[in-house]
Amino acid sequence: MLYDNHGRKINYLRLAVTDRCNLRCFYCMPEEGIQYVPRTELLSYEEMERLLKLLAPLGIEKVRITGGEPFLRKGMLDFLARIAQIEGIQQLNITTNGTLTANLVAKLPEIGVSSVNLSLDSFDEKRFFEITRRDVFPQVLETFHQLLAYKIPTKINAVVMAGKNIEDIIPLVELSRKHPVSIRFIEEMPFNGKGSNGETFIWNYKKILQHIKEVFPNLEKIPDPPHSTALNYQIPGFTGSIGIIAAYSRLFCGTCNRIRLTPQGMLKTCLYDAGVFNIRDLMRSGATDEQLITAFVQALRNRVKDGFEAERKRRPVRESMATIGG
Ligand code: SAM
Ligand code: SF4
Repeated sequence: MLYDNHGRKINYLRLAVTDRCNLRCFYCMPEEGIQYVPRTELLSYEEMERLLKLLAPLGIEKVRITGGEPFLRKGMLDFLARIAQIEGIQQLNITTNGTLTANLVAKLPEIGVSSVNLSLDSFDEKRFFEITRRDVFPQVLETFHQLLAYKIPTKINAVVMAGKNIEDIIPLVELSRKHPVSIRFIEEMPFNGKGSNGETFIWNYKKILQHIKEVFPNLEKIPDPPHSTALNYQIPGFTGSIGIIAAYSRLFCGTCNRIRLTPQGMLKTCLYDAGVFNIRDLMRSGATDEQLITAFVQALRNRVKDGFEAERKRRPVRESMATIGG
């Protein structure tokens, strides 16, 4: 089993399968995009499968596929089907922008996908365009409707940004009235590919909560599942729920059970660290399975306590979330 030096069990891997994206979300990438790494530097499907087959017996039971936009990578459905079969992987989840997925949704349950997080920061087409800089709102909406139609457990991710989508908070909350979805409001993190230390960060979890309570004073706290990054709430009588993710305030570090692999195979033991070693290089230099396992175990022996400690060691942040996976 994988444990870190703070006694935390690690059972969750977030795998960013590509740094490419067809959107340019304001909070994630500059308008001109980011410098993509050459394809040969991305982990291949075979390399990712090899790693998952090594990590599952060590207790990694939950995997999230993210990116960049995962569905830009050719052969994604076949890859998902193969990793869902790996013994020990109990949950296979996806985070997607939903632009390319409407006609794939029907296939997800049969290949073993457990749930989908759909990024949707606004239900207003004009604001959606201003945030993502791409005119693809109808496609994302169609994915949302398909997810509901096929009863796939769905969370909506909305990054809260001053001057961009504050007027969307309440309409997004309203979605949980009739639909069995969790609407998650995420504090904006400084991972936008431009270099920033979060100096424009205003909408913290307290402010988001207060804003919702002004309209829904009966908002109730509900229990948070173990290792939840979200503080969870519900409005009595509503079908769905609300989550607030204090991603920049970092309320959840204490119970962190997750590691990340970037598209180039960099292991991150904290969202806020710069990466602790490159597993792709180790694999491509001919490392045995035992050597790869040892590398993971050792990296976790030196894990930072929390995102503040990680950040102190590496300021300023310059990367885009598309190269981390969120
Ligand atoms: N392209 C897919 C998508 O947008 O869902 C997957 C990758 S995206 C990097 C994963 C998640 O990170 C998305 O829900 C996105 O909203 C979130 N994200 C990206 N940049 C962020 C930032 N600067 N602060 C907070 N969340 C961010
Ligand atoms: Fe692309 Fe997702 Fe980043 Fe938006 S948040 S630019 S969809 S990777």
